[in-house]
Amino acid sequence: MGLKMPHSESPPSSSPPQDNDVSLPDAPPLKAEQEADSQSTTTNGQTDGTKSNVNLDNLFDVDSSDEDALNSSAALPTSSPPQSSSSNNNLSSSLPLQAAAAAALPGTAKYTDPQIMTQFYSRLFPFRTLFQWLNHHPVKPSPSFSNREFAFTLSNDAYLRYQSYPTADLLRKDILRLVPSRFEIGPVYTANPRDRKTLRKSTAFRPLAKEVVFDIDLTDYDDIRTCCDKANICHKCWNFVTMSIKVVDAALREDFGFEHIMWVYSGRRGAHAWISDKVAREMDDEKRKALAGYLEVVKGGAQGGKRVNVKRPLHPHLSRSLEVLKPYFQSAILDDQNPFESEKGAERLLSLLPDPALVAALRKKWDAAPNRPSARKWADIDALAATGVSKTLDTKKLQEAKQDILLEYTYPRLDVEVSKKRIHLLKSPFVVHPGTGRVCVPITGNAALNPREVESFDPLSVPTVTELLAQVDAYKSEGNGADVDIMDGFVADGPSRVRKLLDWEKTDLKEYVERFDVFVKRVLRSEARGKRERDEEDGVVNGADGMEF
Ligand code: ZN
Repeated sequence: MGLKMPHSESPPSSSPPQDNDVSLPDAPPLKAEQEADSQSTTTNGQTDGTKSNVNLDNLFDVDSSDEDALNSSAALPTSSPPQSSSSNNNLSSSLPLQAAAAAALPGTAKYTDPQIMTQFYSRLFPFRTLFQWLNHHPVKPSPSFSNREFAFTLSNDAYLRYQSYPTADLLRKDILRLVPSRFEIGPVYTANPRDRKTLRKSTAFRPLAKEVVFDIDLTDYDDIRTCCDKANICHKCWNFVTMSIKVVDAALREDFGFEHIMWVYSGRRGAHAWISDKVAREMDDEKRKALAGYLEVVKGGAQGGKRVNVKRPLHPHLSRSLEVLKPYFQSAILDDQNPFESEKGAERLLSLLPDPALVAALRKKWDAAPNRPSARKWADIDALAATGVSKTLDTKKLQEAKQDILLEYTYPRLDVEVSKKRIHLLKSPFVVHPGTGRVCVPITGNAALNPREVESFDPLSVPTVTELLAQVDAYKSEGNGADVDIMDGFVADGPSRVRKLLDWEKTDLKEYVERFDVFVKRVLRSEARGKRERDEEDGVVNGADGMEF
C-alpha cells in the first residue's frame, strides 16, 4: 500500500504520442491517506518488537535548534581521534597530514591516492551520521543497516558488490582496510547480502527498501548548454541544477507529501536527491516508475522534434513549475546561455512556434540583424505578433508554444532510470569525486525551509579532499585563537566541560556535516514518532495493555 499512484498514463518514450499530448498521472493522494496506509506496512528495521531503551525525544532538541553542535558523547565517533589504536589505522596515525596533502599537489593530483583516502576516511568522513541515516535509529543497529548493500570501487578499479556490516564500526574498519576510491549505497535486502548465495530459494533474497533517489547531470543539458560542455561546469550552467532542485523538491513535498529530501552535490556536474521518508523507502519499483514518469516532462533526444508536449489546461505541477522557472528563463537562459543568438539556435526556436506567417516575419527580421541576442529575439515574438503580421494568428496557441519552449529550456532533465528500481546503487554522500577531489557534500537537507542553501550553493567552492586535510593541519599549527581559556584543539561542551574537536570540525567540511546531521536527526525523529504510533495502534487492535508510551 503506501503511495497510491495510477499506472503511468504516459506513453512509453519509444513511441511518440499520436496527438502531441502527454498525460500526467493524476495528483497523488492526500498525505493523510499515505500515512494511514503506511501503518499497515511491515517495518523492516523495527519488527523485533523490543522496546528501545533510548528515549529518542531526549536525544533531539524539541525546539529544532538545528545548528547545535554534534553530541560528542554519543556512542559512535564520527571520525576517529588521531590516537586511535585500531590496527587498520597505523597509516593514518603515523603519517603527517602535510605529507598526505603534498602527495596530491596540483599537476600530479591524484585524489584517490590510498594515503589521501585513508586520511580522509579516518579523520573526516562522517560515519556516525551515515550510520544513523541508514539505520533509522541513533544507536541500536537494525536490519535497515545490517542488510544494506554497500559497493566499493577500489583504487585498482575493482568493484566489490554485496558488502554489508552489522555495525557502523565494522563498516568503518573495512573502509579503512579496503580504502575504496568511492563507494555506493544500495537497497536493504530481505536477508544479509553476504548470505545471498547460501539461501535455499533465490527468491529469499530480494530488495526490500531503499531511499527514492533522483539524479541530475549537466551532460543531459548539452544541447542547450552553451557555456560549457562535457565534464566542465561554471556558475552559469549550475543554474540548470538549481532550477531542477527547486522544481523537483516542490513536487515531492507538495504533490507527494515527502518531508525528508536531501540534495547532494555529485562532486562534478550534478546532484542527487535522497528521499528518506519511510513511505518512500518502501515504494516498490512500479510506484518508483510512476513517480519518475510524473516528473518527466522533457522527452526525446537532443536532435529532432518537439521535446515538450503537455496537455491544456496545465497540470497543477506544471503551472507551479512554470512560476518557479519563469524568472530563471529570463536571466539564466536568455541572458546567460543566450541559446537563440546563433543561427542554429534561432532556427530551433522558430521550429517550435506555431504560425507560419509569424515565423516568416521573425526569420526575416533576424536575418537582417545577425547576433541579435536571445532576450531581444524572445521579445520580438510577441512584439511582431501584436503588429498583426499574421491574419490567422491564434494567440492562445502562441502563448502555449512559448510555455512549452520555456519548459524545454528550463524544466528538470532527470536520469529517470536511476529512480525506477530499488536495486540501483547510488554514490554515497561525502565520498570524494575521483576526478575533481571534491567531497559530495549535501546542498540542502530541507530546500523548503532553507531555499538559500539551494540558490547560493557554489559547486566550484566545494572543498577538495586535499584542501580539507591541509585545513586540519593548519588548524593544529595555528590553533583556533578564538578562546584563550581553552586549549588548542578543544572546544567548550556545556558550561563546565571541554572536549576534543573532531578533525572535520576544524575544516570547511563542518557546515556540511552539520547540515547532514540536522537532516538525519529529522529522519530519526519521524521514525521514532512513526514507531510510537504503530505501537499504539497495535495495542489498541490487540486489546492488550501494550500502551508503552
Ligand atoms: Zn557552464
